[in-house]
Amino acid sequence: MPELPDIAAYITALEPRILNQPLERIRLASVFILRTVDPPLSSVEGKTVRTIRRVGKRIAMGLDEDLWLVIHLMIAGRLHWKPARTKLAGRNALLALDFPSGTLTLTEAGSKRRASLHVLRGEQTLHDIDPGGLEIFAPATNLESFRAALMLENRTLKRALTDPRIVSGIGNAYSDEILHAAQLSPIAQTHKLKPEEWERLFEATRATLTRWVELLSSEARKKFPEGVTAFRPEMAVHGRFDQPCPRCGEKVQRIRYADNETNYCACCQTGGKVLADRSLSRLLGSDWPRTLDELEALKRR
Ligand SMILES: [Zn+2]
Repeated sequence: MPELPDIAAYITALEPRILNQPLERIRLASVFILRTVDPPLSSVEGKTVRTIRRVGKRIAMGLDEDLWLVIHLMIAGRLHWKPARTKLAGRNALLALDFPSGTLTLTEAGSKRRASLHVLRGEQTLHDIDPGGLEIFAPATNLESFRAALMLENRTLKRALTDPRIVSGIGNAYSDEILHAAQLSPIAQTHKLKPEEWERLFEATRATLTRWVELLSSEARKKFPEGVTAFRPEMAVHGRFDQPCPRCGEKVQRIRYADNETNYCACCQTGGKVLADRSLSRLLGSDWPRTLDELEALKRR
């Protein structure tokens, strides 16, 4: 799912293309993408885009008369910039926004239709769709407010960082990168974190997101971000199962779930302990290896 750095890159690319441009026409391939009925879709046609901002993992375009067009890409939704009035072609193409300078299209791979479009009136209504998690780069955010937000409930760090009601804009990919940078276990519990670990986590969260916002936005200034993906070769652990950790050289581990996985380095983050992988631990039962050495011994068997 596109996360904070990806959304920031889209906005960087969109601003020079559509800011202060009139939205001439909206074309929908399917009515199901539109999740609101009032104000009607037609009310935004002919209006000019005045601002573009991120709301959680959504992109909100503010138009004349305080009208807002809000796109949520969910997991498989992607934006594309095409020549003006490009036809909506293919079953993945869901939406086209026509501007004088070009057409912004939304595609969604796969058969699940999760991406959504909201038309709202009034800036206040943006708050209603915002899950409300802490904004890492808000001026008021500091170590204390970060710790307070994550401490509200006793959660694992992985769950706390990826809960949009706790922290805004972070998903599976960047939480893996943040926890690796902080050298903390994804299953460490927020209520058991020591003061120096909170400092490391907060600094790693800011540094990791800053680095990726800068990298992806600098690419987006050169070219519209077409290849948005949660798997980048510059990542330290996310999507790099079994490849060497860039810090220590040990192989990156994983915890697998139904449709994604958490990646971490046991050497750097869990004191060498391999965390139970549900699919493997069910197979191995009590034989599940607890340390890297045991895992290696098992593989050699
Ligand atoms: Zn490592």
